Amino acid sequence: MNSIFLNTDIKFLKTVGDKRAELLKKHLNIFNFGDLLTHYPFRYIDRSKFYKISEINDDSAYIQLKGKIISVKHLGEKRGKRLVAQFSDGTGILELIWFQGIKWIQDKLVGDIEFIVFGKPTEYNGKFNMAHPEVMPLHEANLNVTSGFQAVYNSSDALRPIGLDSNGIRRMMFILMQYETFKLEETLPLDVMQAMKLMPKELAMRQIHFPERLDLMQQAQFRLKFEELFYLQMKLLKNKQLRLQSTPGIIFQKVGELFNTFYKLYLPFALTNAQKRVIKEIRLDFAKGKQMNRLVQGDVGSGKTIVALMCMLLAVDNGYQAALMAPTEILAQQHFESISALLAPMDIQVNLLTGSTKKSKRKQLDVELREGRLNILIGTHALIEDVVQFKNLGFVVIDEQHRFGVAQRAKLRDKGLVPPHILVMTATPIPRTLAMTLYGDLDTSVIDELPPGRKPIKTLHMYESQRLRVIGFMKEEIEKGRQIYVVYPLIEESEKLAVNNLMEGYDILLHHFPMPTFQISIVHGQMTAEKKDFEMQRFVKGITQIMIATTVIEVGVNIPNASVMVIESANRFGLSQLHQLRGRVGRGAEQSFCILLTDHKLGKEARTRMETMVETNDGFKISEVDLQLRGPGDIEGTQQSGLLDLHIADIAKDQAILHQARSCVIALLESDPDLSQPEHAIISSELVVRQNGRTIWSKIA
Ligand code: ADP
Ligand code: MG
Repeated sequence: MNSIFLNTDIKFLKTVGDKRAELLKKHLNIFNFGDLLTHYPFRYIDRSKFYKISEINDDSAYIQLKGKIISVKHLGEKRGKRLVAQFSDGTGILELIWFQGIKWIQDKLVGDIEFIVFGKPTEYNGKFNMAHPEVMPLHEANLNVTSGFQAVYNSSDALRPIGLDSNGIRRMMFILMQYETFKLEETLPLDVMQAMKLMPKELAMRQIHFPERLDLMQQAQFRLKFEELFYLQMKLLKNKQLRLQSTPGIIFQKVGELFNTFYKLYLPFALTNAQKRVIKEIRLDFAKGKQMNRLVQGDVGSGKTIVALMCMLLAVDNGYQAALMAPTEILAQQHFESISALLAPMDIQVNLLTGSTKKSKRKQLDVELREGRLNILIGTHALIEDVVQFKNLGFVVIDEQHRFGVAQRAKLRDKGLVPPHILVMTATPIPRTLAMTLYGDLDTSVIDELPPGRKPIKTLHMYESQRLRVIGFMKEEIEKGRQIYVVYPLIEESEKLAVNNLMEGYDILLHHFPMPTFQISIVHGQMTAEKKDFEMQRFVKGITQIMIATTVIEVGVNIPNASVMVIESANRFGLSQLHQLRGRVGRGAEQSFCILLTDHKLGKEARTRMETMVETNDGFKISEVDLQLRGPGDIEGTQQSGLLDLHIADIAKDQAILHQARSCVIALLESDPDLSQPEHAIISSELVVRQNGRTIWSKIA
């Protein structure tokens, strides 16, 4: 009953019909009644109070005003074209401005009648105005609002002209809820409802769309957000449970010769406690007989490589091959060199495979791999190509995970009869809540300690006008024997433009740091791999003092003598990128610096980014700010996670609810792992319904 109702095509809703239904499907993904119900309001208008224009001040948030339109005029041309209306309520005049949907708005503003205007005032040239406010004739406004809170819905430019603006959608919602057959069954099990004191589903739906009181609206929000996050976590943790039940894992029983010899003789430093702890966690996984899927999070410079290396030795000790996959050639190359150097005195075969590996070498590698003569293979994506066959791949490390998708991980898993253990390492710290969801089916370890003796990097925000001071500072540091990175942003729309900027910057640097006293390396994305490598090597060897580059050096590169990072147009970088770049320095014993160069004029968000960088070196803190600023949509990896399919919960804002939902799921799966208790049957059926992002209402049992 329930399911048939929810699955009813939206065109059958009274007043909708074929034409509107098509547009609703196309623009809002509303195909049926169920979809309409989960088209939740993104905001509420507080209809309980009208503000006066004279009361508007800097702090005014979204407010509601009542008054008349006294004039309407068109201003500007082409892209500056706008509609400006003078609005008065007797206490003052407010300008209302529209840049889009001008024609439609204009038709609405006619008549000598009172309007309700809703929006956020902003100050411009000492006067307040309101851009893109909602307006509606007063006599239409009071539709089914009993509480003073009226739901506001997202619509689209294509829908507004046919009456499906926010009000139109609310009207549809009202009609839907008036149907005699409108009845929603509960979708959460009773024990969870009671434990979390949740509002029943149907009441929550009514209160979210037509709140009777503020507290009821808030309870409804909590209930619906909780439900959404509960099922997201349930899906992840259930998958993990299935994987553990069904996927056997290779057992690495012993800690052997190679590991011990390396530890005793060749490890160049003492491990930090965090490194020891993580190695131990991995060793336990290796012995379990289940496939490991573990994420290691560790800030830049926390020493993830050595952890990976020692675990690879464990695999080889147990007669298996290991692979390490890096996101770029430069990084793969560098891993190969440092690992080969560390392992040089030992009897173990290591090699490199990337996209630019020559055919002849490639052939030889293939043979060695298949015959098992090669113990450790380091490389890029090329590693997971189908043609690469290992004899017995037992362990795979993926460095800088965020560039590898779930599909690629799966491909790797397919490389053996019994899938290899997988260790994912990321230097992009992500907020815990996000990690729970993005990597909710992985186990996680954290290296939360830097090797001893590191001095925290000093970060300065400097303006263009202070460039000469920056140059002077660079000179001083070079005289002390240090090396310097200068990084230019990659301009996405135009790689060419980025390179132009870079070359211009290069010319300026040449002027201040003339040859032959100074030498400068230059690296950018349009150079061939050999050329890049050549330039990199000159810097690594200390022949050049400055390396000027686009973001190709972003990840992983390790040059301890480089102690200054200058970031040009720093405002063009995201926070996690800035933090990554800064992590290129501070790897030696010397005091390191990061200089963020920007114009004086900065947007509010860019300013927050600069301030955050100056304030803290803690990658996890930075990731929190990043999530708040950008939302989860821009964070890599979220696409496959289901995070963006959320209708009501917001990963950035609803972290507390996410924690509660996750704990609740964990407890539930502990007490009833197979969901076999009758009251939990509902969970299994909901999981089916929610399988593919879009809810399939007809599958509700
Ligand atoms: P990341 O976690 O960013 O990949 P790396 O593994 O590249 O960091 O390590 C950064 C630097 O710190 C390297 O030069 C590495 O040799 C060094 N290092 C790693 N662990 C330790 C340690 N326990 N003590 C001292 N130096 C260490
Ligand atoms: Mg690294």
